[in-house]
Amino acid sequence: MADKTEQQAGKTIHAGGEWLEAVSGATREIIDPADALPFAVVAEGDEKDTDIAVAAARAAFDGGEGAWPRTPVAERAALLRRVADLLVRDREQLGLLESRDAGKTVEEGRVDIDCVADAFRYFADLVAAEAPGRVVDAGTPDVHSVVVYEAVGVCALITPWNYPLLQASWKIAPALAAGNTFVVKPSEITPLTTIALVDLLVEAGLPSGVANLVTGPGHTVGARLAEHPDVDLVSFTGGLVSGTKVAQAAAVTVKKVALELGGKNPNVVFADACATEEGFDTAVDQALNAAFIHSGQVCSAGSRLIVEETVRERFVAELARRAAKIRLGRGTEDGVECGPLVSEQQRAKTESYVAGALAEGAVLRSGGRRPEPSATRPATGYFYEPTVLDQCHREMTVVREEVFGPVLTVETFRTEDEAVALANDTEYGLAGAVWTADAGRARRVAGRLRHGTVWINDFHPYLPQAEWGGFGKSGVGRELGPTGLAEYREAKHVYQNLAPGPVRWFAG
Ligand code: NAD
Repeated sequence: MADKTEQQAGKTIHAGGEWLEAVSGATREIIDPADALPFAVVAEGDEKDTDIAVAAARAAFDGGEGAWPRTPVAERAALLRRVADLLVRDREQLGLLESRDAGKTVEEGRVDIDCVADAFRYFADLVAAEAPGRVVDAGTPDVHSVVVYEAVGVCALITPWNYPLLQASWKIAPALAAGNTFVVKPSEITPLTTIALVDLLVEAGLPSGVANLVTGPGHTVGARLAEHPDVDLVSFTGGLVSGTKVAQAAAVTVKKVALELGGKNPNVVFADACATEEGFDTAVDQALNAAFIHSGQVCSAGSRLIVEETVRERFVAELARRAAKIRLGRGTEDGVECGPLVSEQQRAKTESYVAGALAEGAVLRSGGRRPEPSATRPATGYFYEPTVLDQCHREMTVVREEVFGPVLTVETFRTEDEAVALANDTEYGLAGAVWTADAGRARRVAGRLRHGTVWINDFHPYLPQAEWGGFGKSGVGRELGPTGLAEYREAKHVYQNLAPGPVRWFAG
């Protein structure tokens, strides 16, 4: 990675090719959630820093012939590929940084960096293979008509703390591929890998002003980006409440808006999936993974287990047994399977959901408390045990709202119709899974689920080639896939009359 001396001194705002302190001089300590100790300092930007960054992005977009939107597609694709190579080069350091910043295990951090590199390669390949426009048949040889796809302009990219670099890359890679300039605002609690990525973009040769970054809170930096008259598009990933505010602010200047919000994702298990020992083991293992990877702080976490009544007791007993054995600790320690929650606030929120669920009649089958401190688990870290809540029903708050912590609720069904109704009984619609040995049922149920991603006999995989996003209150628009590129483009119809003459509509 490039020299971080300036950034270590709190110069973490990037505008017009310069690393800057906040105009106010304010800074923020970045906390390691495994011990609650600060391990980095960043600039705490506000509206003034945001205006400077937007002005730089605007100038870079509006610049002359050689400006980024007019750079040949092959050059843009080559730059994205160089970024992917640099990410691979820095995989270890970036994976470690992601682990310390977001509390995930180092192995998860490394996998994230691989996925980030894949996103850059995917969008490079996608634009490089495209035709320059779509010729339209105008119905006469005297007209040449073509639709071309151009960059939208200055993009505001606002990202959350759970997959800091991955979520940023799903926006930055297509935005650059399409020829936009941008200002990225990472979550104020996990900005470090996004800062490092901007360094890599510079190292890869991105012209000054194309990539800009402001570290700082949502209510100042994020809100200013959403309302800024010189921003043309805002792409936001985060919670429902903040996303709604972003959409409202963006509406005033009629920006393009993309929202990737939360989820309350069903994992539907039919008894026939558990008919063999191998099938049972796989379904339990994947239900565990669906709910507890990254301590459940995943937008697509399978936080609602909806299991056929005849297998419920055996399934939940085994799930709870395995959940209790998950090794919690600092993500950088060998043998640790799950890190802490990202903040004290996130743990308090999780605790309050669990307390509420128990008060509403849920039955605790495992977890439901902070673990004892240990050699790999400092007492000051924000740890919380993987929690299985049995006997849940759709009226419970914990079943309806996104906890974003290691909490799995269990509901049961008797018929296929009932399973589908429960799985769709959410205001969200991000992702869901169905487990069954019956191929016909698998396709029937998948067809009826109202979720942006449906897994059959699997949970969590995504492909950069396939669109990601949600139905309902899980969002607006899609990331990844061809649609994920189209979000960053305007369609322009160029109609050329090859034999112009008067139309004589008016007699003259
Ligand atoms: P959050 O909404 O609190 O913050 C997300 C980002 O928005 C942060 O950068 C924050 O500073 C900023 N922000 C906050 N208020 C703002 C405002 N008024 N205007 C502009 N920006 C503002 O979310 P979080 O707690 O960081 O992340 C967790 C949420 O993100 C969960 O709900 C999760 O489901 C969602 N998420 C969704 C996806 C997806 O692909 N759909 C992926 C990851 C996370």
